[in-house]
Amino acid sequence: MASLDSKIPKGPLSNKWTNHKSHINLVSPANKRLIDIIVVGTGLAGASASATLAELGYNVKSFCFQDSPRRAHSIAAQGGINAAKNYQGDGDSTYRLFYDTIKGGDYRSREANVHRLAEVSTNIIDQCVAQGVPFARDYGGLLDNRSFGGVLVSRTFYAKGQTGQQLLLGAYSAMNRQIGRGKIKMYNRHEMMDLVLVDGKARGIIARNLVTGKVERHGAHAVVVASGGYGNVFFLSTNAMGSNVSAGWKIHQKGAHFANPCFTQIHPTCIPVSGDHQSKLTLMSESLRNDGRIWVPKNIDDVKAIRDGKLSPTQLKEEDRDYYLERRYPAFGNLVPRDVASRAAKERCDAGYGVNATGEAVYLDFAAAIIRYGKEQAHVKGLDENDAVLVKKLGQGVVRSKYGNLFQMYEKIVDQNPYETPMMIYPAVHYTMGGVWVDYNLMTSIPGCYAIGEANFSDHGANRLGASALMQGLADGYFVLPYTIGDYLADDIRTGSIATHTPEFDAAEKAVVDKINLFLNSKGEHSVDYYHKKLGKIMWDKCGMSRNAEGLKEAMADIKALREDFYENVNVPGTDSEFNEQLAKAGRVADFLELGELFAKDALDRTESCGGHFREESQTPEGEAMRDDENFTFVSAWEYKGEPADAVLCKEELKYEEIEVKTRSYK
Ligand SMILES: Cc1cc2nc3c(=O)[nH]c(=O)nc-3n(C[C@H](O)[C@H](O)[C@H](O)COP(=O)(O)OP(=O)(O)OC[C@H]3O[C@@H](n4cnc5c(N)ncnc54)[C@H](O)[C@@H]3O)c2cc1C
Repeated sequence: MASLDSKIPKGPLSNKWTNHKSHINLVSPANKRLIDIIVVGTGLAGASASATLAELGYNVKSFCFQDSPRRAHSIAAQGGINAAKNYQGDGDSTYRLFYDTIKGGDYRSREANVHRLAEVSTNIIDQCVAQGVPFARDYGGLLDNRSFGGVLVSRTFYAKGQTGQQLLLGAYSAMNRQIGRGKIKMYNRHEMMDLVLVDGKARGIIARNLVTGKVERHGAHAVVVASGGYGNVFFLSTNAMGSNVSAGWKIHQKGAHFANPCFTQIHPTCIPVSGDHQSKLTLMSESLRNDGRIWVPKNIDDVKAIRDGKLSPTQLKEEDRDYYLERRYPAFGNLVPRDVASRAAKERCDAGYGVNATGEAVYLDFAAAIIRYGKEQAHVKGLDENDAVLVKKLGQGVVRSKYGNLFQMYEKIVDQNPYETPMMIYPAVHYTMGGVWVDYNLMTSIPGCYAIGEANFSDHGANRLGASALMQGLADGYFVLPYTIGDYLADDIRTGSIATHTPEFDAAEKAVVDKINLFLNSKGEHSVDYYHKKLGKIMWDKCGMSRNAEGLKEAMADIKALREDFYENVNVPGTDSEFNEQLAKAGRVADFLELGELFAKDALDRTESCGGHFREESQTPEGEAMRDDENFTFVSAWEYKGEPADAVLCKEELKYEEIEVKTRSYK
């Protein structure tokens, strides 16, 4: 078993960051002009990195498969972004954010990276405000905050329910300025198909123009992968339809270790699955748990009556409701972290208390918040606090101003008015904590190849706290990578531009073209989606919210068999010289079919429960996740060896020097 320890810097945390700051001077402004960097992906991580690298003076080529960076998955982020500003004076601090994130991740993330994240969190807000991002403000004009799960302070900055979109517009504006200056060359509708290595270093990519089908070569001194998460390996997830693992998987195949693939986040507040026809699930932002109370009926007869349409949830008396999160976790209540809330919902539904036709839904109820806010408003306005109709109207107004767009979205999808009747929610796949392994500088195990944002594994351990993905993506993009990358590029100032008419580029391009032809010539019976859907079902049933050894072994065998069938029987219509979504998707599903097996292998290997990874064999008598610190305080970084089943495990031992490792409790 190999060790990655030598790549992790030693010493006190603060020095690590200071050391890297000193590397800024290693590439002078004049020399930066001689260096080309490819950034694959222009979501929040990639757009912020592209803009900052260009601002520093590097020549940047940025790629995205959408028609504009503005359409990256990042725009889906609704709830907010964390920063340890302590604007509420509630005792927040860099250390507190660091502590919450390590604890929230169930002590499976790298201490140094998380501390750096907490340190730069406050800079992100300043940067974005300077760009004009319209964060919500309180009555006095100061930036407002709300709380997210797993924390006892209010540190989440937000822009109504559109935080990701507004942040991306800020980063995109910064990028556009550099595009205008000629420092960024933007390749929309281009998909990275492979990484090109020369003498073991990342020296470029093969990309495909998705509109014309042309396969292109692009050389650079370094390649940054910011391609997002792989939750769509489950087919149904809250991720954008195009989100995929391919860029990360291609670099894995070329030597980048893939870390903790089984660490997936299942978000507790999503609109429940309604049938077989769906291709997408919808998140109801976690911000709703600030005011919504989660419950199911206490009595099974009431559950049946609700399901049969004989009883409405609003008719159920307070004493007949089980606010199970408040009951089980009195300290955090409805604001427990996502893994805890998701498992608790599953536990109630598995016990038969699910409130919709499929038995997989719990209530998220705003009635109490509406009355609370309504009374407050009546008091402020000097109106009658005992007038129930008035109080309800005023309260609904407050809730509308906080969450109006989310309520509207729910009503459009479910056709029920959530101001009048509780929302129904159920957990769904949402985020992947696993990803490409990176060192402290965010470099993968391939020299010159970096991974940032959701594509890497670095900061969230086994469970991500709400509003911390945007923080990590923008920390990586604005404040970490642009400076740490100089450490590597300092040796490249005399290299000259990277030639692409070389045997290495020839071989990589040929492999890409051969794969495209393989798909087009297969002429099998089944669509790409047929395989994706089947893969998703295996993943959800056997690698989902709870996992056991038997199911995981079955999943590995089932996915391998499905992959073999895919290569025999897939049918990809159209040609390679036109805009062909099915062809693009075939490549992505082929990679999911490999990742899925590695995912199951990783989950099988980790016999402990931690964060989002719940092994049925490892739980406390109360049904809580039971970690095994003695045997599993490490990052599982897998080395590619062809078949996913043959991947070799490299361990990065996790050492906690600044934080005491404890059993996670939110009671
Ligand atoms: C519904 C929803 C709500 C969320 N809300 C929040 C929230 O409130 N707060 C929070 O902190 N987090 C939230 N998250 C998580 C957060 O949105 C994501 O983790 C984050 O936006 C990921 O950013 P990214 O830049 O890493 O990747 P993405 O935004 O996914 O961008 C990936 C980029 O890579 C490109 N790409 C991918 N593959 C290729 C390829 N092969 N070739 C070329 N380009 C490629 C894409 O075109 C895109 O530009 C939410 C997630 C979801 C699903």
